[in-house]
Amino acid sequence: MGRQGRRHGTVTVVVLLGAPGAGKGTQAPVLAERLGVPILASGDLLRAAVAARTALGTAADRYMSRGQLVPDDTIVDIFLERLGADDAGGGAILDGFPRTLGQAEALDRALAERGGRVDLALYIDLPEDDLVARMASRRICAANGHVYNIASNPPREPGVCDLDGSPLVQREDDREGTVRARMAQQIPPLNEVVDHYRATGVLRTIDGLRSIHEVTAGLLAATNREFGAI
Ligand SMILES: [Zn+2]
Repeated sequence: MGRQGRRHGTVTVVVLLGAPGAGKGTQAPVLAERLGVPILASGDLLRAAVAARTALGTAADRYMSRGQLVPDDTIVDIFLERLGADDAGGGAILDGFPRTLGQAEALDRALAERGGRVDLALYIDLPEDDLVARMASRRICAANGHVYNIASNPPREPGVCDLDGSPLVQREDDREGTVRARMAQQIPPLNEVVDHYRATGVLRTIDGLRSIHEVTAGLLAATNREFGAI
């Protein structure tokens, strides 16, 4: 457990924002290590709550099994329940949540009731065309699901897995048309969340076009400015 999370005697809540393909999944563990707090990722939390058959998980499952969106308040409650767990006593990195302005506002209200707040919102910003290009250049090996990117992490021999020699294929989810449709659905609410945190003064924007290493450095620099260097 890092010292920084408990520095103010309260929880440190950091929201990590970015569209699909912006690299949140790569960067979140680095931040979690730096702050000594766990990563709370929305998909993982929902699956865990459903599997554990908690009251909230059962409620969420009822919506999902009907193909409906889980209401903002239910998602916020699932996060708050998880934030109450021992390992999150110093705070957490929130990944994939809040996804909408409604969720962001509900989270603010719930944290305020506990004397807390979102301390920092880190936004990995990339133009939509670059996000689409990144996702559309992903290839998966047919035999074992090894992941490549023909732009940033190509196999030694084009179209062939380095590890097992099986052909590399593009998943339907990664085709450009599918990616564009997903972006069209997700980017407008993301922009509203970004605007919300800009208005509350906790937003720090990192240029996602830079290398993975430089993005990490930018995120850590913003974190150090907010919480002080270790
Ligand atoms: Zn393979």
